[in-house]
Amino acid sequence: MSFRDAENMFEILGDIAPIQSMSPLPSNQSSSWFTIDEIDASTFGIGEYGQWMKLHSYLFIGDELAILVDTGLGVANIRKVVESITELPIKVITSHAHWDHTGGHALFDWYSAHERERDWIEKSFEREAKEIAEWLVKEPFTKAAPADFDIEKYKPFQGIVKNLHADGDVFDIGGRQLEIIHTPGHSPGHVCVYERDRGYLVTADLIYQGVLLGGLQYSEPEEYQRSLLRLKQLPKIEKMLPGHGRLDIENDLLDEAIEAFASLAETGHLKKKSGLHKFNRLKIHL
Ligand SMILES: [Zn+2]
Ligand SMILES: [Zn+2]
Repeated sequence: MSFRDAENMFEILGDIAPIQSMSPLPSNQSSSWFTIDEIDASTFGIGEYGQWMKLHSYLFIGDELAILVDTGLGVANIRKVVESITELPIKVITSHAHWDHTGGHALFDWYSAHERERDWIEKSFEREAKEIAEWLVKEPFTKAAPADFDIEKYKPFQGIVKNLHADGDVFDIGGRQLEIIHTPGHSPGHVCVYERDRGYLVTADLIYQGVLLGGLQYSEPEEYQRSLLRLKQLPKIEKMLPGHGRLDIENDLLDEAIEAFASLAETGHLKKKSGLHKFNRLKIHL
């Protein structure tokens, strides 16, 4: 399995400008490169609004442990900002192994990933590194990167995956349980992280408001559709927490995505290379 997805994304998103506006929750506070968006007193979004992909990682704090879902772009030290919020030990769950969600993995001792993307993290992809760096700065940063950030030295994360997570796994962090829901489609090992009690659902790159990517090299449009339908079966969703763009997305964005995929299936477009499809709040690239 190679890391050609990044290369592929160049072609797809080069002209599209997928995510225009965002509006963080009013309580957000800026911490240099990162913006901390308080979802509740023990749940935080850590946003990278200064880069055009407007990436979100999420921090869940339990009584005994903190879970960070994804580690962002790797432009600034996300561990420092997490440690400014909690003193608990931190485990990292990888929503999926695309470089924009694993940028800070090297800063943490413990991270897990899905078996189907293990190779992406462990494999060397020297050639793609330069392309990814170009992609990272495709648009100028709108917030200052740390003084020690050097795009010439930027490299996507690689490492050995010692911990794997799988569908149905539950992480008990002390008074809170986070559940792994395998949601392939955008990528083969993509997972959503679900907190049943509070109804929080980290949707990562399966659902955000922008151009959904189901046509990358290892994407599978039909799996994507099945994953969306599976989310619809969850007992309650109070708040979806997307991987990119606006933080305050509406819950019925899931319904729009399901309807959009259904209409693509009906018209014979639910297949790769069928192009860019426009809907109300969403676009879908296959
Ligand atoms: Zn992705
Ligand atoms: Zn992403």
